[in-house]
Amino acid sequence: MRGKSHLLLAIPLYVLSVKYLSHAQELLLSPFFALYCLTAMVGALFPDVDWAIDRVIPGFGHRNPLTHSLLGPLLLYIPIFIYKVSHPLLTNSYNAFTFGIATHLFGDLVKRGNLTWVKSRKQEHAWYILNGAVLVVLLSMTEFLKALPLGTSIINFINTFS
Ligand SMILES: [Zn+2]
Repeated sequence: MRGKSHLLLAIPLYVLSVKYLSHAQELLLSPFFALYCLTAMVGALFPDVDWAIDRVIPGFGHRNPLTHSLLGPLLLYIPIFIYKVSHPLLTNSYNAFTFGIATHLFGDLVKRGNLTWVKSRKQEHAWYILNGAVLVVLLSMTEFLKALPLGTSIINFINTFS
């Protein structure tokens, strides 16, 4: 999949999942919802920064397993966890970004994967599915985490959406 297709996949999926899967449908009415959509778009395009990295580090390749993985969201999650970031603007943006990456990984499954450093098609598919699935689990966990151990009750959290 190329950039435009990734966006066409990510945006409707993000909107639908907020509406039907998340515990925070209020997001749809938030004045910042456009920002979250934008962050989901950035996430949907993020794994393909490997094009740019390949220019600096020859051999890094397009569809590099490092950018086409859960590594980015995991690294971003470290400061969120350490500093107990609970501001809805940041946690929702983080979720949208992570969601975008997950859709990118599942999107790259559809056509030929061509992961750098990975020779077999089976391993490519396993890589995309495993990383995408863990991100989906991580998303449902952060939905939970941002409301509980980070110091705000669920009620407070929902009330502070904006
Ligand atoms: Zn890609």
